Parts: sequence; C-alpha cells; structure tokens
Amino acid sequence: MINVDCKKLLVLCFTLLTGVGCGNVATVSSTPSSFILAGNYWPDYTAIPVCFLNRQDFEETLVKDYKAIVEQEYYSKTSVRFTRWDDCTPDDQNKAVVRIRLDSSTITVYEGGYWGAVGGKSRVGAIPLPLEGEESATMRLEAPEIWANFSKPGNNFFLHEVLHEFGHVVGLMHEHQRTDSTQSCVGDAAAELASRVPSSEVFVYSGAYDSKSIMSYCNPLTNTLSSGDVLGIAEIVTRAAAFSPGQSPTPPPVAVD
Ligand SMILES: [Zn+2]
Repeated sequence: MINVDCKKLLVLCFTLLTGVGCGNVATVSSTPSSFILAGNYWPDYTAIPVCFLNRQDFEETLVKDYKAIVEQEYYSKTSVRFTRWDDCTPDDQNKAVVRIRLDSSTITVYEGGYWGAVGGKSRVGAIPLPLEGEESATMRLEAPEIWANFSKPGNNFFLHEVLHEFGHVVGLMHEHQRTDSTQSCVGDAAAELASRVPSSEVFVYSGAYDSKSIMSYCNPLTNTLSSGDVLGIAEIVTRAAAFSPGQSPTPPPVAVD
C-alpha cells in the first residue's frame, strides 16, 4: 500500500475541491499486480476445459511437459484449475473450451543450432471464437518437433510461452503494454508507444506496474508466475464471482500473441 501522507492530501483535497476523501486515496495500492481484462469470465475457474486439436502429431513428452509446467505454476500459486487435457471433439467447437493447436512451422532452426520462434497466440478469457488463421484453435503453441533438443527446464522459451498463453486464457493482458510501464520491451520506441493500452473499464490496471510479470515481453525466458501475476489472477476470479455464469460483461473478443 502507498504510504499516504494524509495531511498533505487533505490540503490537496481541500484546494481542488474534488470531493475525494483521503480514505479513498489511501486504498490505492502500489503493490505490483497485473493488467486484466474485465469480462468474458469463465463460469468456473476451478475447471477451465483444455483440449488438443493435434497432439498426436507431437511427442508425448512435449505434451506432458507443457501440461506439467501449467500445473506446477498455476496449481501451486493460484486457485485456477484446468481440466481434461484430452483430444478436442466436434462438440467442443462452439463452446468456451481452450482448443490448442501445436505448431512447429513457426520455429526456424538455423545452422549451428541457433533457432528463432515467433511466440504463441491465444484468446483472452472464455471465448469460443477460433483465432484467425488457426483453424478451430483458440490457442496456438509453438512446439518443436524434437522436444529433447529444447526441453531443458529453467529459462526455457517454450515453457515460458505455455505459461504466458495460459495467463491470457485466465484473463491477463500484456503487462508491458500498460501506459505506466517503466520498461522498453519490443526494441522499437515508436512501436512500443503505439502498442500501449490505456486503463479503462474493460482493460483494467490492477495495482502498480509489474516488471517481473510472465505477461511482459521483457521476460521471454521467465518460467514462473510473478507475485503480481498471482494477485491479478486472484482479482479476476473475485471479479468473476460477482456475476452469475453467462452474465458477465462481454467485451469484443481479444486475441493476443
Ligand atoms: Zn501474449
């Protein structure tokens, strides 16, 4: 919490005649938290269904490790749980189910063992609508054909990508796109500024900017949820609980990398 000097604020309140009491000001939090989408909530955050469209085309160990990192981080730190982890059925197509398509085509391996990858993509929150150009998937995850070449735990780009995209599923937005970001994450100052999203009723800044967030492009190798991510997820779950299932605000579907 901000250590508020209420005497000074009282003078300010009086001078500006804002009608905002110091009691309200004192509730402003300086604890790093998150950037969240307020709406398109899941009906039950303890049972968000996940299925795969093409897991049979990839190694079992890859699918196992992708699931394991999600369980390790989300289950130990948040109240969110994901269910199923099986093959998608035709019945899943029009429902709010996380439909994952694994894709190796977006990974380039160069001579000498260097490689490049563009990153995953996902809908934010409970959205049945598929991603554009991704068949019926609501999430694309890059997945190396030979997982053993990339599966080293810790500072792992692919495991980061999995945790990051599941953050979008829960309702987290890109932390580095906050207008109060203190970092430069995309390498181009103009692009950086153009990508910023102001706080609004739908795109809500919860707490102060979190430089350690899994949702920031500044941390592409982070394999752990930050304390800010955890607080942001708790806020989403709390906000969602104020609505009956299916009655939450429905802002236009958001898709993000
Ligand atoms: Zn993202």
